[in-house]
Amino acid sequence: MIYLDHNASSPIDDRVRAAMEPYLDQRQANAGSATHLAGHRARVAVEEARARVAALVAAEPDEVVFTSGATESNNLAILGTLAKASPEAELITTMVEHPSVLEPARRWGGRLRLAEVDSEGRTDPAQLGELIGDRTALVAVQAANNETGALQPLEEIAAICADAEVPLFSDVAQSAGRLNLRDQQKGVSGLSLSGHKMYGPKGIGALILRRRGPRLRLAPLMLGGGQERGLRPGTLNVPAIVGLGVAAEQAASEATSRAARCADLAEHLEARLTEIEPACQVNGPRLERRLPQTVGVRLPGLSAQALMRLLAKDLAISSGAACSSERVEPSHVLLAMGLSATEANESIRISFGPQTTLAELDQAVELIKGAAARVRSVRIAA
Ligand code: PMP
Repeated sequence: MIYLDHNASSPIDDRVRAAMEPYLDQRQANAGSATHLAGHRARVAVEEARARVAALVAAEPDEVVFTSGATESNNLAILGTLAKASPEAELITTMVEHPSVLEPARRWGGRLRLAEVDSEGRTDPAQLGELIGDRTALVAVQAANNETGALQPLEEIAAICADAEVPLFSDVAQSAGRLNLRDQQKGVSGLSLSGHKMYGPKGIGALILRRRGPRLRLAPLMLGGGQERGLRPGTLNVPAIVGLGVAAEQAASEATSRAARCADLAEHLEARLTEIEPACQVNGPRLERRLPQTVGVRLPGLSAQALMRLLAKDLAISSGAACSSERVEPSHVLLAMGLSATEANESIRISFGPQTTLAELDQAVELIKGAAARVRSVRIAA
């Protein structure tokens, strides 16, 4: 099985696993148990991880709230703001956000403003700026799209939000650890990230809430023992937090080289796909404006579902977002970019990492070629 579905979940790094192991095994204490040394040690490990996560996005450790992943972080940012905002307050987001942003955003009802995207899936900062008004409580724009890899012009959007004194929140789940976004993220007031998109464990993530600049004002979604400054109560998942910390530390030092390696892989893959399917079209921008490990392509005339059914045992790829691949509805991201439902359903997403080899990509292309021929022959026979 060739695994080219890193945007759905990236493999856990050996160094991350090794760091987590003692906390799964002998060191079971609750990081909230201040009365014994074991609890104290767990707390120290959590705080060390917090500092590492903060460093990844140039934040302060006490600006980091640990959550169960980007879904929870996004919900906390969007619904937590809704709970605290005035009844007239408005939310602005884009049409291509992950469902964990879009679904809570719909709870704002008539006070939700949706920014459109162009045919590459990118938002025009000026157009988004026009939606900002006196009532805007929050602007939420992802850093990179999970389906196409399209990078949003975050720096420009951050400057517009700063001028308007409106907090900008960004879901950086796909770009953290894959691109060096330290500078672009500086003007962003809130960030959400996820362990399993950056070679860390699943079920852990963070919401980073900066104190500098316009601030997100949040009410917690759950009530309990007051952990994480009361914003996210619940016993801390120490092994996963330790793993996230190590993954963040590696991301900080390796993101640039990972991106360079993935850009080479993407170029190779696109060239090979064009050889076997000359009519194929990349969904999304060129590599300079795209997450380099993501190749979303449309294979005209081929049903992605039929293709993937044939490939399922040998090749892990996605059509649309993995989180929604059980549904056969066309991707909302591709529709927002102007593709028809049929075109969206002809689209696959191949996503990989720095450890992926050229040989694996070549094998994947051969598998796709064989499956495409079978899909076409079945159609002709029918
Ligand atoms: N945001 C984006 C952009 C994602 O790609 C994903 C995962 N598909 C999420 C949020 C949700 O992350 P998690 O799995 O950590 O809840």
